[in-house]
Amino acid sequence: MSLLIIPVLIVAAATGLFLLWKFRWGPPDRTLPGVLTYHKITGFEFGGTWMTPARFASGLDHLADSGYSFIGEDQFIDTLDGKRESPGKEILITFDDGYRMLMDHALPSLETRNIPALIFLVTSYAGRENAWELPLPGRRTRHLGWDEVSDISANPLFTFGSHSRTHRDLTGLSDDVLADELIISREVIGHQTGRMARSVSYPFGLVDRRVAGSARSAGYEAGFTLFPTGRGEGVDRFCLRREGVWIIDTKSSVDLKLSGGRLFWFEDIKGRTINRLASITPFFMKKGPFD
Ligand SMILES: [Zn+2]
Repeated sequence: MSLLIIPVLIVAAATGLFLLWKFRWGPPDRTLPGVLTYHKITGFEFGGTWMTPARFASGLDHLADSGYSFIGEDQFIDTLDGKRESPGKEILITFDDGYRMLMDHALPSLETRNIPALIFLVTSYAGRENAWELPLPGRRTRHLGWDEVSDISANPLFTFGSHSRTHRDLTGLSDDVLADELIISREVIGHQTGRMARSVSYPFGLVDRRVAGSARSAGYEAGFTLFPTGRGEGVDRFCLRREGVWIIDTKSSVDLKLSGGRLFWFEDIKGRTINRLASITPFFMKKGPFD
């Protein structure tokens, strides 16, 4: 009798979680191509937002073998605009933060496979270390410098978007500072690459109506978060969902995130929980160093 209570409790807890997920968020809209987000591609670091170069490369091969094709930012925006119809099973690869390590550990794997990618830069940190991140041991990482960004942008496979100027929680900034974060970063990228940023990725995925409106006014055509807060009906082009790929992910968990199988709800709750934990950072790092 007492042993029976354990499975009963597990089933009850799982049912409760599922119902909470179903009414709070529900399945996302899947009319657009899937968008994957990576951060650091590296051997090891403390934290969860990294992936080894070998697993990154084998993950790409697995997706191609599973029938996915890869599109770039322009095709994604054309699809958003209704100028292009997605045949389904398409993926846009994105990187947040724009680290220097991408040049050694990620871009060559993409280039040899002819896979496009969209890289989001924190413009005030170009060429500098990531002082905006929680200072765990071994976590100091350099961002791409402008010379490197310029070299990469010569390859038509790769485009650059804005991840703000200083990687702060945009929802907590005054209207003027918010506009600076969005407008100046967009212009600097245009100046450095000869191509104005078309997309923005909100730091920590934190966005609300005011931030989304400010991104639209700044001239962006698409705004990416990770997990939109509302229910998944319809597409808001300034609150676009992406699937984060972390070190704990497996090929099958990435499949589940992209295709939405029976256990998608569990994967979604797991991702939202990880993202909530990562959002703790802005509480420790209120001020950007360049203001
Ligand atoms: Zn970031």
